[in-house]
Amino acid sequence: MSTATMPADLLYAARRAKGFMPHAEGLALFETAAEYGTLGPICEIGTYCGKSAVYLGAGARQAGSVVFTVDHHRGSEEIQPGWAHHDPTLMDPRFGKMDSLPTFRCTIAAAGLEEEVVAIVGRSERVAAFWNTPLAMLFIDGGHAEGPVTKDYEGWAPHVIEGGVLVFHDVHPDPASGEGQAPYHVYRRALASGAFREVRSEGSVRVLERVGPGTG
Ligand code: SAH
Ligand code: MG
Repeated sequence: MSTATMPADLLYAARRAKGFMPHAEGLALFETAAEYGTLGPICEIGTYCGKSAVYLGAGARQAGSVVFTVDHHRGSEEIQPGWAHHDPTLMDPRFGKMDSLPTFRCTIAAAGLEEEVVAIVGRSERVAAFWNTPLAMLFIDGGHAEGPVTKDYEGWAPHVIEGGVLVFHDVHPDPASGEGQAPYHVYRRALASGAFREVRSEGSVRVLERVGPGTG
């Protein structure tokens, strides 16, 4: 496991960023990015306001790597108006839609990570259809319903190189947690495919290393 430590200014930037990433889990992302980023680029599905991207970008900097982070910035169904995780300050009144892109940009600029974190604005499925670059690390944290997580896995996991890692967020094995289990189901599917083995678990983060071809 990596022994990298995250600099104080980036720790500060990560902690104050808006988002859905507990600190201990963010540090696991940082360490994983610092370790595996030496093998190639990192891709995140689900940018939101850039909180996880700060941890990943900090790791990428240490590894000499880069983070591509994909989001349409219009919000998942579970963060739309009326839902528990909705943030009304992220609404764009001109379109009556959410827009997390300006906040993301502010987060990454304040962290000084504009060289390490590159935004791709669009639907994950649309970008995946044209993606052709092998990935050292893929972090799946986009739409959390069965359909979106399944599409993210099927569209992006094939790009993870052997010896690289597929990382899931919001893996909740206990249905009573009430958090939704789609990421857990897809994580089980990835393990069952035989193409990945689990190398780390931190909170709801699961890190799977590719040991063979395919996705199952
Ligand atoms: N990683 C973030 C949280 C991501 S929340 C953090 O650490 O705070 C999930 C994000 O996925 C939302 O911003 C939403 O807009 C995005 N998303 C959901 N479905 C998507 C899709 N099909 N394509 C692109 N982005 C999507
Ligand atoms: Mg998440």
